[in-house]
Amino acid sequence: MSEFLSLKDKVAVVTGGSRGIGRAIALELARRGAKVVVNYNRSPEAAEAVVREIQGWGGQAAAFQADVADPAAAQNLIKFAIETFGDLHILVNNAGITRDKLIMMLTEEDWDAVLDTNLKSTFICSKAAVKHMMRKRYGRIINIASVAGQMGNPGQTNYSASKAGQIGFTKALAREVAGRNITVNAVAPGFVDTEILLSMPPETLEAALKLVPLGRKGQPEEIAYAVAFLASDQAAYITGQVLGVDGGMAMM
Ligand code: NAP
Repeated sequence: MSEFLSLKDKVAVVTGGSRGIGRAIALELARRGAKVVVNYNRSPEAAEAVVREIQGWGGQAAAFQADVADPAAAQNLIKFAIETFGDLHILVNNAGITRDKLIMMLTEEDWDAVLDTNLKSTFICSKAAVKHMMRKRYGRIINIASVAGQMGNPGQTNYSASKAGQIGFTKALAREVAGRNITVNAVAPGFVDTEILLSMPPETLEAALKLVPLGRKGQPEEIAYAVAFLASDQAAYITGQVLGVDGGMAMM
């Protein structure tokens, strides 16, 4: 029996690991012993700081620039992880953006940017990872969705569609790859204290928090603990699930 929730000798890729929730996930996986590729797009210093923090405790990590909305770059990210650390066990599709507008103001460009970054990247990274994981007959894919994909949110038709898409993708892929000992799950955060919330008007956020039974925002680490659990050997019998980490906001 492996040590409880240990990720020793596992190799993980965290997309958008430079800041916010992805940063907390990269640190938590590394704390449990995983070697972590910290993907970033526009924040090299932040990504390098995450790597240095992990290396400071004697862990192994590497930063890799890739705009995961670009399929070739996303494929290179997975290739880099396998070449650098010799394997790939855990993929966390976390990179995400918002472009919030009411539908009459929403442009096709806003739609495509959000769908490509949040959903298409999940497909491209997962496809590249699954190719390796199927051969190894082991894998953990964890997609960071959102309550917006479960409940919808005004001003977020593009974002909600991308997150609902990730949830459907999670369930379909879970069924496809279960026979190869690969699990695919989603974590659906509620409102979490990161820079992504800065684009929300404070009064909208205040009103939204009234819908949270636990009455507060979540912290990035609280999402990371759920991800670390789903990545562990102790979660081997869980697949195709959506774990809400949202203070009780969406009770599905
Ligand atoms: P954040 O603080 O804005 O961080 C976003 C991260 O994604 C950054 O590391 C950023 O990297 C990366 N990223 C963005 N576009 C990218 C791209 N094209 N390629 C690679 N990396 C990219 O956001 P967050 O709150 O941590 O959100 C993380 C995930 O949780 C997202 O999928 C989001 O939808 C989801 N989520 C968040 C909340 C919340 O309340 N915070 C709630 C539900 C779900 P660079 O800075 O290097 O570009």
